[in-house]
Amino acid sequence: MEPYPIGLSVEEARECILNCCAALDSECIALEEADGRVLAEDLFAPESIPPFPRSPYDGYALRAEDTHGAAKEHGVTLRVIEEVPAGCAPTKQVERGQAVKILTGAPIPQGADLVVKFEDTQFTAETVTIFAPGKSGENIVPVGEDIQEGDPVAERGTVLDGAMLGVLAGLGYTKLQVFRMPRVALISTGDELMEADAALLPGKIRNSSVYTLASYVRRCGAVSMRRGIVPDQAQPIAAAIAQAAEQSDLVLTTGGVSVGDYDMLRKALELLGADILFWKIRMKPGAAFVAAVYQGKLILCLSGNPSAAVVAFFLLGIPALRRMAGRRDVELEKIQVRLARPFGKKSPNRRFLPGKLEIRGGNAYLLQAERQGNGMLHPLYGCNLLGELPAGSPPMEQGSSIEAYCLFL
Ligand code: AMP
Ligand code: MG
Repeated sequence: MEPYPIGLSVEEARECILNCCAALDSECIALEEADGRVLAEDLFAPESIPPFPRSPYDGYALRAEDTHGAAKEHGVTLRVIEEVPAGCAPTKQVERGQAVKILTGAPIPQGADLVVKFEDTQFTAETVTIFAPGKSGENIVPVGEDIQEGDPVAERGTVLDGAMLGVLAGLGYTKLQVFRMPRVALISTGDELMEADAALLPGKIRNSSVYTLASYVRRCGAVSMRRGIVPDQAQPIAAAIAQAAEQSDLVLTTGGVSVGDYDMLRKALELLGADILFWKIRMKPGAAFVAAVYQGKLILCLSGNPSAAVVAFFLLGIPALRRMAGRRDVELEKIQVRLARPFGKKSPNRRFLPGKLEIRGGNAYLLQAERQGNGMLHPLYGCNLLGELPAGSPPMEQGSSIEAYCLFL
């Protein structure tokens, strides 16, 4: 009898793993380095955007009151007292009977409460004639239209994107406190593995899935570190895990987590004295899985089967990395999709179907590769959804409605 639970549900496994990881520490970085990073502070607007009322058009700023008698046949003529291009500050106050020529983006002068577009006026160098009454406030962008001073602009845990970086730049933020990016060590175990550039020997395969996992790790906003190939022996695996745990925030291994004679991961973890959290998850693919904690670091041991490893990484690795990266949204979002292709097999166990989001006639479809297999990486190309079939599902027809986790959408 093993001293750890065997065969958790996906939810139990996720909760157990999330309980063992926390947001990493934060660091201060320059705004231009912050795209895709996770904010570690709540930010408020130290000033308004725009900081002054401005004109959205080229035209004339004047007093609405002065236009009250204006009509098509008899315009009201005002005296132009100055011109204010964008970037300049008005020097004069607009009095009764006066107007200021104003260009897009320029501040509204004192006294004016209306902008009339050039197209709606007749003008000379000294005068402008208006042919319709205007309302106070018309064509004036108020202070703080975009953001008001003191408003919350971004919360801790927000993933920064281009729009938010622009907003923050507009507010004068040039340095930001962000969470450190998780460092993920990838260890590939298996006597059959050779490096990608090797000439293959009999019975060997190239270590392919490490490249796939490294890519998904990076897409989670983490840094991947390949730690090479380790044979199916407990001692070298233990040594590799110990070293990786020292140099990273999360260790991912592949291979050796089933019940075969050469499946050494649990033995290696026991040798280390790691705290094994559980073994196996009630799902397909990806059932072979071990989670452990060693020296405070989470160790997630994935199946060697590439698509099983990837599915387990999606369901458990992504939430763990999001938590460590400091994100507020840790769980994967679910949507309702239809199957773009029939799924011909029964699913006695809960099953996950990697695929691609496709929109047809306004409906979301999960497009699965035509050929699927646990040992195959090719069907994962372009994968951004993970469909779910509950345990006990019959074969599913094309168009069947199922739930799917959104991955990199
Ligand atoms: P295991 O989980 O060790 O039983 O491995 C399951 C299957 O995945 C075997 O066919 C392995 O050869 C294959 N495999 C293991 N590691 C990798 C890897 N890094 N890249 C591609 N295939 C692998
Ligand atoms: Mg193996």
